Amino acid sequence: MPPDERSIIHVDMDAFYASVEQLDHPELRGMPVIVGGLGPRGVVSTCSYEARPFGVRSAMPTAQARRLCPDGVYLWPRMARYEEFSVRVFEVFHEVTPLVEGLSLDEAFLDVTASLRLLGSVEAIAQRIKHAIGERTGLVASVGMGPNKLLAKLASELSKPDGFRRITAERAQRELAPLPVGRLWTVGKVTEQALHRLGIRTIGELAACDTARLAGALGRQAGAMQALARGEDDRCVEAEQAEQSIGAEHTFDTDLAELSLAESWLLRHCERIAARARERGLSGRTVTVKLREPPFVTHTRQAQLCSPSASVRDIHEVARGLLETWWRAQRHPRLRLLGVSLSGFAERRQQDLFDPAPTARLPDEVQDRINAKFGSGSLVRAGVLRTHRQD
Ligand SMILES: [Mg+2]
Repeated sequence: MPPDERSIIHVDMDAFYASVEQLDHPELRGMPVIVGGLGPRGVVSTCSYEARPFGVRSAMPTAQARRLCPDGVYLWPRMARYEEFSVRVFEVFHEVTPLVEGLSLDEAFLDVTASLRLLGSVEAIAQRIKHAIGERTGLVASVGMGPNKLLAKLASELSKPDGFRRITAERAQRELAPLPVGRLWTVGKVTEQALHRLGIRTIGELAACDTARLAGALGRQAGAMQALARGEDDRCVEAEQAEQSIGAEHTFDTDLAELSLAESWLLRHCERIAARARERGLSGRTVTVKLREPPFVTHTRQAQLCSPSASVRDIHEVARGLLETWWRAQRHPRLRLLGVSLSGFAERRQQDLFDPAPTARLPDEVQDRINAKFGSGSLVRAGVLRTHRQD
């Protein structure tokens, strides 16, 4: 399908956190409500529309907001409560299309191209979403429609609050042209300043600028940026796919004949897959070990954990049992390849963070933090080090 024949919807809840607070606390309705960090370095997450005439904006230091709006109601965020509303909002999205790309708790792109035949025009679908969200949550959503993400998001932004707007490909240039160039997707502060130096202030001026001249200042991104300035955007809506399994494996240059070394490799794989599961907020119940004897005979052994986990210790304990049982049953055990995977995923519950066995979790979390900071593989368990000599 040519990109400009798609129907994309962008939904963004109006002042989401603040609106939930006003819904839960009717006495706050009509008042400036500011939700965010309330400590000395706190930042505003969301403010109600009543706070905006005072100049309060999200991402502003809370201290500054207090100066601008001293009579506002300042609240810490209640994320668990916002997540409950988010679930209901996303349920509405999934009723009109499986192609939902969530950007945050309260914002998503939907590709409804394939839903048009069944559900009617893009306006009818957008209206249905807006209405269902209002009915089921009592909250207001702004909805933008367009042939691509760029224009759908622009449409919801321009019509907010209580927005409802469609920008067609034909109208794209006219809508975009007068807007400041900094509003264009991908144009950050540095690029904006570079464009200003070229005398380009609006998106229309960017679209009309000589490409060679622009490339002189911006390099290779110049062409892509001008396409966006014309309202062209071929990014797809990337629906979250349910992850089937997370695995790691290694083929050895020389066949592996020593159990303790095989166990080191197993631990290394377990560290990797557990870290990847934790990164995605997943816990798995099924552990599979893949064993390939030279030259190409592959065996798999599988076992279940007592409860879904993303902890190295849990996964490794089961994987190691599988490896050892297989190993001891062979007359001349030899491995060309060893792999481990985790599957049977459940979303990790929030309370897992406080759940039993904090001693089992702690090393995982320390490892995650150190590897996030210094690069993956910076911190590994001692048992894994032997495998590094073989890389
Ligand atoms: Mg929002």
